[in-house]
Amino acid sequence: MKFNKELDAIKTYEAGKPIELVVREFGIRPEQVVKLASNENPLGTSPKVAETIRANADKAHLYPDDSMFELKDSLAKRFNVEEENIIIGAGSDQILEFVSRAKLHAGSRVLMSRVTFAMYSIYALQQGAEILRTADYRHRSEEFVPMMREHKPEVVYLCTPNNPTGDATKREEVFRIIEAADPNTLVVVDGAYMEYAADRDPDYRIDPAELLRYPNTLYLGTFSKAYGLGGMRVGYGIARPEIIRALMKMRPPFNITALSLAAAIAANEDAAFVQKSLALHRQELPRYEAYAQAHGFDYIESYTNFITWIFPEGRNASEVADGLLRRGVIVRDLSSYGMNALRITVGTPEQNDRLFEAMDEVLG
Ligand SMILES: *Cc1c(COP(=O)(O)O)cnc(C)c1O
Repeated sequence: MKFNKELDAIKTYEAGKPIELVVREFGIRPEQVVKLASNENPLGTSPKVAETIRANADKAHLYPDDSMFELKDSLAKRFNVEEENIIIGAGSDQILEFVSRAKLHAGSRVLMSRVTFAMYSIYALQQGAEILRTADYRHRSEEFVPMMREHKPEVVYLCTPNNPTGDATKREEVFRIIEAADPNTLVVVDGAYMEYAADRDPDYRIDPAELLRYPNTLYLGTFSKAYGLGGMRVGYGIARPEIIRALMKMRPPFNITALSLAAAIAANEDAAFVQKSLALHRQELPRYEAYAQAHGFDYIESYTNFITWIFPEGRNASEVADGLLRRGVIVRDLSSYGMNALRITVGTPEQNDRLFEAMDEVLG
């Protein structure tokens, strides 16, 4: 059968391996598996969220409030913006898809970092757009600005902090790139891990309300990481009303479930849970830096809830990932991104102990 020719250029997105796979393939009991591959919150979800989901279970037959007023209202207060500045997606992933469909077509160009979130290129290729990448994985204005001037891309992706590398871009550098954008260029600032960067160093904090100064930026946030709702699929976009209205035309009705909506409202109101998650992360991240130093490999300074370990020649990241998997520890191998590296979500103290033990065995 023939499919659209655009599909030929697309490599199917490879999600982090699920616990079920390790159980099936290696006969390890589910409670023995340590999953540090998808940057989920190791503390789980806020108890208030779990309570809300249970309380709403008997409303599963009702469509959700399609205006999503309550969630938008809650986000508007958190970010000091208006409801007309907000769109809700089934994960911020779905908003990335809306952006692609609203802006890109055959002949369009998009600009992104050499190593960044894989979905940017997948959605762009679906539209037949051309992908331009910088040489560095870091988002540097020295590279972005000349490429933007030369190619006038329809969309520019700034992933800060960046996934899968974990580095971040300083606020002033982000603004330098935004200010170089052509009026027709939409600059997407993907802040999926912004809570972690802001906690580590305020110079890396991007405030979506501040981005509204510019007519052509879209900020993306998600409930999947620091807010612990990866399984519920809720993300948001913040931009000027003109951009939000265009993206709303791409949105299917009832694009998140009633339970997801209720869960996101509860999560958004529980700042204490996020603070607790950040405190745990602050305590545990240095252990990963110390482990890398003690074993003679490199790491990228992390502004996220994960760390990227880079191995020297002679130590193959895929083999290490495989060795860990056999011991019930799931991490992310970055070989497919052209890096001899592993991306590891920083877990609970016990999960991290397990990872270091398994690493000791694998390294031999
Ligand atoms: C996790 C992630 C997202 C989106 O996650 P959703 O679960 O779809 O909200 C977006 N961008 C980056 C860089 C991510 O790591």
